Amino acid sequence: MKYTKPVLVVHGGAGDWSKRDYEKGLTEIKKTLERGYEEFKKGSAIEAVVEAIAYMEDSGVFDAGIGSVKNSEGEVEMDAGIMHGNSWKVGAVASVKAKNPIKEALKVMLDGRHVLLVGERGERSITNFIGNNGGDTVGAVALDEQGNLVAGTSTGGISGKLPGRVGDSPIPGAGYYATPRVAVSSTGIGEIILRILPAKEVDMLVSMGFSIEDSVRAVINKITELFGKSNVGLIGIDYKGYATAYYNTVGMARGVKDKNIVRVFVFEGEI
Ligand code: ASP
Repeated sequence: MKYTKPVLVVHGGAGDWSKRDYEKGLTEIKKTLERGYEEFKKGSAIEAVVEAIAYMEDSGVFDAGIGSVKNSEGEVEMDAGIMHGNSWKVGAVASVKAKNPIKEALKVMLDGRHVLLVGERGERSITNFIGNNGGDTVGAVALDEQGNLVAGTSTGGISGKLPGRVGDSPIPGAGYYATPRVAVSSTGIGEIILRILPAKEVDMLVSMGFSIEDSVRAVINKITELFGKSNVGLIGIDYKGYATAYYNTVGMARGVKDKNIVRVFVFEGEI
């Protein structure tokens, strides 16, 4: 569907939302959209994406920030990444315990010397992890008035993962990707997403002339054909303001806000 700039699309993970407090998920997605959208008044799509994701990291409802799941040693190790499509700038962190991993990823992007840093970062580590109610990885994509396209993703990863395991979320092209054409954020099983690089595939299909909607759907269908269902969800937006979301799981918490409309869904519903 086409939206009026500026546009913010967010997700709170693809998974079995029938077993979760999805009402709470929907409420938080709505609040996230309000919080992130405020940033368009003074900032760009970068601030909208970062603040939307930071809000979800602080909510404790999703598998990110204080809501992050634990690894097999009972520790939390988080991954996050952000990309500004128009400049191809990108920054990411992996295996961190910082309060807001997305803000650490932003620092890496703004610094510009590197793309991905691992290990402890940030002045403040979180110690008060509260776990979540079954929510998942969080992500956001945005298009501002000036045409900036930005994508970001943040996660605690997969419950019971081995220490040091890094998923798709901090890897450009896998967990997120932005170009002058599109911005995409992924969620699902990192070990599958890392093999297909769905966010990159969406950009390639759009560059060949397919719509963002057909491209996102085609990539989800390809993953379903190769690996079966219940493993992936994507949100995407293009430079014209067309936004879309698809998943092959039971549900995906997601929402979109533009100048006139706010729409949030966990199960059926078109973005
Ligand atoms: N993609 C994340 C990971 O594998 C998990 C998720 O999206 O729920 O780390």
